[in-house]
Amino acid sequence: MKDTLGRGINYLRISVTDLCNLRCKYCMPEHGICKKDHDSILRIEEIEEIVKAAAKLGMNKVRLTGGEPLVRKGIVDLVSRIGRIAAIKDFSMTTNGILLEKFAQDLKAAGLHRVNISLDTLNAEKYKQITRGGNLQNVLAGIEAAKNVGLLPLKINTVLMGGFNDDEIADFVKLTLHDEIEVRFIELMPVGEASRWAQNHFVANEAVLQKFPDLVPEITNDKSSPAKYFKLPQAKGRVGLINPVSNHFCGACNRLRITADGKIKPCLHANAEIDIRRLLVAGNTLADILTHAILQKPAGHKLNDPEFVPIERNMYQIGG
Ligand code: SAM
Ligand code: SF4
Repeated sequence: MKDTLGRGINYLRISVTDLCNLRCKYCMPEHGICKKDHDSILRIEEIEEIVKAAAKLGMNKVRLTGGEPLVRKGIVDLVSRIGRIAAIKDFSMTTNGILLEKFAQDLKAAGLHRVNISLDTLNAEKYKQITRGGNLQNVLAGIEAAKNVGLLPLKINTVLMGGFNDDEIADFVKLTLHDEIEVRFIELMPVGEASRWAQNHFVANEAVLQKFPDLVPEITNDKSSPAKYFKLPQAKGRVGLINPVSNHFCGACNRLRITADGKIKPCLHANAEIDIRRLLVAGNTLADILTHAILQKPAGHKLNDPEFVPIERNMYQIGG
């Protein structure tokens, strides 16, 4: 289905929990969050029905995210329910990878196509520091497991932070030399926890191109992909740059986001939300509600406006 600006909306990103087994400094408060009342979180069956309705409107791409999707009880059951919806042609998950070694085989068998794994440093001490206690070895084991079971193409998402990992750009880029993986550098966005320190730690993705002038741009046909892709000569994998702040891609936005507590966000950087359960009780169908959300999508975000006010939600509630 198209929105009012003619953008085809085919991509649904669903946060299945706002709980997480890490406490990344730019995402979660140190002491975690208050566990939401069980009833306020969408049930597995409700999420399945939402995806079925979205598929009928022409959506064919689904990503499960969180919080950490692999801590959600029943996650493999949810994956298998969505995996059976034939219209969904691209079915992925964004995960921190900590539990991936344990789940990779079951996720693949249940119908998940691929995973994006978030990893901001390749140094075990720094990993522990930025995630407040995470073990890098678990993520590396998760990456191997994902490769072994064929959750491909494998993408690694790295949020660039000045003074933290900008000295590791070369190490990340070199991961693409011998492996068919995509390393995607993402600019730190002023959302939730990060809104307080994003300005001091912000590094524009241009830094990657300055360090690697021999990265060759790739021509892609996928205009809705937020990443611009590059390749080192002879590399098996590629490098993606996602510049939501310095060079946003709203004109080609193709997505709706759903929070774990059942609110549709037509735009990541706006506070407007549509409460699915409330509208269902008022007699609307899921098709009505999704259509309404698509038609509410704004033309673009205002991150670069001097008067921009960061949204109230945190990233762990929205899923990235
Ligand atoms: N827990 C999972 C994970 O970390 O992959 C999924 C949810 S997490 C919120 C999704 C992505 O959002 C991660 O790659 C994380 O690094 C990114 N993220 C969180 N806060 C961010 C921010 N302020 N700016 C840019 N990316 C952010
Ligand atoms: Fe958890 Fe992902 Fe947020 Fe880190 S970025 S705290 S792993 S939800």
